[in-house]
Order: sequence, then structure tokens, then C-alpha cells
Amino acid sequence: MSHLTLKRVLIKLSGESLSTDGFGIQVSAVQGIVNDIKEALSSGVQLAIVIGGGNILRGGRANFQNQIERSTADTMGMLATMINALALSDILTHAGIDNEVLSSRGIDGVLECTNPKRAKCYLNEGKVVIFAGGTGNPFVTTDSTATLRAIEIDADAILKVTTVDGVYDKDPNKHDDAVKFDSLSFNETLKRELAVMDLGSFVQARDFNVPICVFNVNNSGALLRVLQGKREGTWVRD
Ligand code: UDP
Repeated sequence: MSHLTLKRVLIKLSGESLSTDGFGIQVSAVQGIVNDIKEALSSGVQLAIVIGGGNILRGGRANFQNQIERSTADTMGMLATMINALALSDILTHAGIDNEVLSSRGIDGVLECTNPKRAKCYLNEGKVVIFAGGTGNPFVTTDSTATLRAIEIDADAILKVTTVDGVYDKDPNKHDDAVKFDSLSFNETLKRELAVMDLGSFVQARDFNVPICVFNVNNSGALLRVLQGKREGTWVRD
């Protein structure tokens, strides 16, 4: 196996990755990435995952007819990420992948509270760490969680798993002539107003110099190629 260029990475997995139709949890949806994670781990990389909750609820998009506060809806969204984390943990365990879930808020007997030292300790033991519960604060998303946790654990990069091949100059689903970038600087991405992550989390990644790679989960072996520094997806870095 080729040499790894990245030793510790944080994968941002949307809640939709757990679903075949965008809603709920279908175990089959996640098998591809689980296989890729297993292969990647055997090459010695340390992997943390921030899991989203959009397959269950996104506080900012839910239509609660002004009867449920946004902060309540966001809390519900964060609980959704906890549900997903529990599911993903069991799926990884079933695949023989040692893992631990660390949550922004603990639930006695169910979820351990996150803390950077504990996370690094688990990573050094070769376990996958799944971060649940978002940042613990409303009005942001798990993109912010990904950047915060990546900085906390000294990750070499954030790997943003999507269903497109990378970052394009315009929406490839709407424009046949959309051109994909192999790499971009943070500032060029901002100047072109390309949506890689939520703006706040993107700027924080820039300020803490955490590179971001956007790649397609459906490209088999993509994760390993990214880790080996082969051409895959789009890299955003200084
Ligand atoms: N959320 C939040 N604070 C956080 C992370 C998540 O309030 O730090 C809420 C927010 O409502 C968000 C939802 O949880 O929409 C689910 O997360 P996200 O939308 O990031 O999930 P994804 O799109 O990645 O599946």
C-alpha cells in the first residue's frame, strides 16, 4: 500500500449518508463508506467522524409554523446527530471497527461527554471516534462541529464527504459546462463564493489552517486515494 500523507483526519459525514432516500436510517446506505473506512484504518490512519442529523431534522429548515423556537429545533437537530452516532457506532462495530462515541452533551449510560484529551487517547489506540451532538450550541450546524473538533484533535485535514466529485465553479447538477477544481485556496474559494461548508466554519478552518478535501463518497476507494495524496476531489488549503 502506498505511503499515507495524512495521519489523522476528521471526516464530516452528513446524516443523509445514513439514508438511501434522504430520510431515516438504512444500514445499506452506509456500507460503502464503512468498507472504505476499514481499508483506510488498516493503513494506519487515525479517523474521527462528525456525523450530521439532516436525515432526521435540520433546525433551520424545519417548518414548525413559529410554534417551536429555533433554539429548540436546533436542539432537536443535535439530538438527531446523537441518534445517528449510536447507529453508526453499531454499524462500525458490526464491521469489526473499534470505535467510541463522544458527545457534546453526555447522556448517562448512553453517551460519553466529549473532551479533546479523551478523543486523542482513543485515536491513538486506533479507535474511530464518532463525535455526536454537534457543538452543543444552536444556530450552527455540524460543519462548525467538524472544524472545531478537527482543531481540537489536531487533525491534518477535514474530509467533507458529499455526493459530488468536488468543488465546481457552478452547480454541476444544473450546468453541463461546470468545471471542477482540483485545488483552491481558502481566499479564492471565498472570493468566488463557492459553498464548501457553512461560512463560519469555513473561515475558522482557514484561520486555523486546517485543509479541507471535498470528495464523492460514491467513488469507491476515494477515501484511500485522498489519504495517499492521490488526485481525488477538491482540496482547499493555503
Ligand atoms: N445543530 C445545531 N448545532 C450544532 C450542530 C447541529 O444546532 O452544533 C442542529 C441544526 O439544527 C442542524 C441539525 O442539528 O441543522 C443537524 O445537523 P446538520 O444540519 O449539520 O446535519 P447534516 O446536514 O450534516 O446531516
